[in-house]
Amino acid sequence: MMNKQNLESILNDCIHCGLCLPTCPTYRETGLEAESPRGRIMMMDAALKGELKSQDSFNEHISTCLGCYTCETVCPSGIEYGDLLSHCQTELLKPSHSIKTSILLKIVNRPWLLQLFGFLGALTQRLKIDVLLTKISHQFGGFPQLPFRGFKNSALELYPAIGEKVGSVAFFTGCVMDNLYPNIHEATIRILRWNGYEVHIPKSQGCCGALHHHVGQTKNILDMQKQNIQAFDFVDTIIINSAGCGAELKNYPEGFASKVKDISEFLYNINLSVPENIPTQKAIYDAPCHLIHAQKIDLQPKHILPKFGVELMDFPQSNLCCGAAGSYTLDKSTMSNEILKTKMDDIQNQSKGGLIITANPGCQIQLQKGADLYTENKYSVAHIIEVIDGIYANDSAYADAFKK
Ligand code: SF4
Ligand code: SF4
Repeated sequence: MMNKQNLESILNDCIHCGLCLPTCPTYRETGLEAESPRGRIMMMDAALKGELKSQDSFNEHISTCLGCYTCETVCPSGIEYGDLLSHCQTELLKPSHSIKTSILLKIVNRPWLLQLFGFLGALTQRLKIDVLLTKISHQFGGFPQLPFRGFKNSALELYPAIGEKVGSVAFFTGCVMDNLYPNIHEATIRILRWNGYEVHIPKSQGCCGALHHHVGQTKNILDMQKQNIQAFDFVDTIIINSAGCGAELKNYPEGFASKVKDISEFLYNINLSVPENIPTQKAIYDAPCHLIHAQKIDLQPKHILPKFGVELMDFPQSNLCCGAAGSYTLDKSTMSNEILKTKMDDIQNQSKGGLIITANPGCQIQLQKGADLYTENKYSVAHIIEVIDGIYANDSAYADAFKK
């Protein structure tokens, strides 16, 4: 928790220039000062001084903030807005998230419950009940074909490198990613092994706490940190392919945080094997906020993708939130959908259809939902790892190495 002096000093750094306003998704939608970073900072200042005019209005405007950190990136005064928001959520806000979010938070750090919900979700899809559910609520849209089993339970503890071993890493499987996108985990491990890394999967790892942190429910976060710090004690490098979890893990104590590498950050820094004679394709890259703003990873994916034949199209709004933001789609579904609609309009102004690439499960679901709802299915959405793995798979040696 920050002390009052630190908070006051951050708040005093705001020069009220307003440069952050046009990049704030909630301000873009509403045009309201109270829905902008500057307006929120002024309310936080008042709350800290005990001068709030209305606690309800404060709760409302702070809880509509996506926690996307875009304002931090553009602020000329270097305001650490994320720290202010975290303090507000834990110390100054009345908890107000929905029952759906409360259930989600309970599920994600109970692996057996997560497995059960994953299984039921997969069954719902196989029975085509999901089609009906999507008609009832947008909240069921955008999901991938769910597996009956998550990744970690059936994973090995160690995957050897292919060819000469150049290093050893451990892999953080997470909870949402593990149960929704096990195929992307498998692809990540194939890519690491193909590039000479053995990959450890510590079975005692658990939820990182990102979703809890996002809504200010920090009560059990120290326990989650302790569990993961112990589970990954034996390695120097921890790979993660979910931007939201990566940002959270980089907030752990320094000894652990410095080991965490997003997969694109890692691949950018190694001697990455690049296949020859690869087909080219155009795509839009939409940067997850927790990658570009929270982790400051921007150039790495844009540098790697062209090596795999991807011609990235201009997309100036790539750095703006898609409205996914952890459990925001559950708590603030109307605003979340408005932001998504704007994102899809921005995408359609730049391209006529095709591939959208991202690097976070929440964004992947949200963008796929946006593509289905607002673009007449003109787009498909993929994780950067799916694209790289797909190109590698054109090489028969790669395909043979991982034949089951
Ligand atoms: S850009 Fe920074 S200094 Fe300017 S209003 Fe926004 S938060 Fe304040
Ligand atoms: S974190 Fe995002 S939504 Fe919140 S004030 Fe900053 S730019 Fe706006």
